[in-house]
Amino acid sequence: MAKVNKNLLFALLRLSSLVGTVIWLNILPLNAHILSFNRTAVYYLLVFFAVYSVVLYGCVVAFPAKTAIFYRVVLVPDLIFLSFLVKFTGMTQSAFENAFYLVIALYIYYFQSMRMGVFTAVLAAAFYSIINWGALSGGAGPQLVLQLAFMLVVALCVGFLSVELKAVDAAAVAGAGREKTINQALDNKLAQITVLYGEIQKLAEADSSQQVYEIAVQATSDLLRASVVYLLRPQGKWLKMVIGQGIDPKHLPPEGIRTDAGISGKVFKTQEPILVPDVQGLHDLDVADIHCFQGLGTIALAPVVSERKTLGVLCAGRPQANSYSQEDLDLLAVVAARIGTSLSNLERNESTMRLAFTDNKTDLYNYRYFQLLLEEIIINKSYAKMALLILDIDMFKKVNETYGHQVGDEVLHKVAANIVTLLRDVDVIARFGGEEFVALLPTCALEEALSVSERIRVHLSEHPIKTSAGEIYITVSIGVAEYAEGDSAKGLITKADRAMFIAKEKGRNQVYNANPQRV
Ligand code: GH3
Ligand code: MG
Ligand code: MG
Repeated sequence: MAKVNKNLLFALLRLSSLVGTVIWLNILPLNAHILSFNRTAVYYLLVFFAVYSVVLYGCVVAFPAKTAIFYRVVLVPDLIFLSFLVKFTGMTQSAFENAFYLVIALYIYYFQSMRMGVFTAVLAAAFYSIINWGALSGGAGPQLVLQLAFMLVVALCVGFLSVELKAVDAAAVAGAGREKTINQALDNKLAQITVLYGEIQKLAEADSSQQVYEIAVQATSDLLRASVVYLLRPQGKWLKMVIGQGIDPKHLPPEGIRTDAGISGKVFKTQEPILVPDVQGLHDLDVADIHCFQGLGTIALAPVVSERKTLGVLCAGRPQANSYSQEDLDLLAVVAARIGTSLSNLERNESTMRLAFTDNKTDLYNYRYFQLLLEEIIINKSYAKMALLILDIDMFKKVNETYGHQVGDEVLHKVAANIVTLLRDVDVIARFGGEEFVALLPTCALEEALSVSERIRVHLSEHPIKTSAGEIYITVSIGVAEYAEGDSAKGLITKADRAMFIAKEKGRNQVYNANPQRV
């Protein structure tokens, strides 16, 4: 719309200059005394001007895409028209001489090019000289040559200035653009730092690996505007996806990715982050990579490292190529490093806890932990029903005496492992001390606890323990106590312990119920 209006405006300006010329010719008959004034020729000339101006307007309206070309080409008829106008209105005394220079200067400004400026000036000089040849070679010649030379200089100055102006304009626009870009970049950085700070705070408070994984995904997708984020963690020789967002874990082979395969494997091995700006442009993609990078244009991978050990690989991707810069990769590496620290802290805590609560001879919980757990279960009223067993290996002293203390240890370890396999996952088994074990059977009433105990007793008595000194048969005596409202942890354990003693007194290799009247 704006273009059409401009064209119309230009056409109207040309029309008004035409009307102005006619008025000037009529109300200022002063020029009539000038010898070379030729009114009829001027009118023919104005008709010529009117015709090609209308043609010009028709052309720019019909072919708007070529407007610039038409406006450049019309320079030629305009120069011819003006040269003739000067010729027919008194040559050096023509009032249109100035209009001639002005039009040339305006053209050069419009072109905004040094080359076009020179071309316009030369073309104008040529038309002017040819059309006004008679005058140039006559008495007014030197003055006309001077005027032409002056015109050329003015034209070149205008051309030079307009080109300068254009350059200054462009620089100002670019400068403003650059400033805007810098401001935007600063804003982005600030937002990123805020997010990073928040996520790092959350990481410090995380108390499980799963929580760390979730924060990792959230932080990465926020900071890197990632549409795909996943974390690989090693299991033996394989990297497995422990969490993913925007990616179907089925994209990965079920066993995972080999720790020495593909780009993920490379990051895992070298502990160096890698940016792949154009995934589709990669020709030597490993099968493992193909699975992970499906539908992605850019992918960034950073190692999750702690104390020189690679704990995993954090990956972020976007569907478009060239979506990430080196800075984005650095940011991912920072997040990955923080995840590494959090994971190793958590794992260290977990292993310290495990050590503190584990009996190293049997790998069962130790009695201290068992007691704490039982107290907590009783206080929280976690189970309406439960039973407690105490097992004591019969005549264990003899085992030690016959085979030695070391073989005795082997027996202890294997008996513990057997008891674990004979009980459920929810049952809690601990070493009570020496050759004695304690087991809590949640949700078990007395009858069920007795039958479980009997099954254990029979199994152990029928299956010899394989040791370095050969097979050794053992038996156990088991005391069973059912939890009753008001029992303390200590009280319940004492009940079961007493029952176990009675089992011993009754001849060993048997199960005794602490509350015989209940059955
Ligand atoms: P009972 O049938 O009355 O239980 O006879 P017992 O010999 O099993 O019982 P006693 O309490 O007299 O002896 C327990 C033995 O268990 C004594 C000790 O040497 C042995 N023992 C305790 N802890 C360990 C251990 O960690 N390793 C080994 N090898 N033996 C242990
Ligand atoms: Mg004992
Ligand atoms: Mg014993």
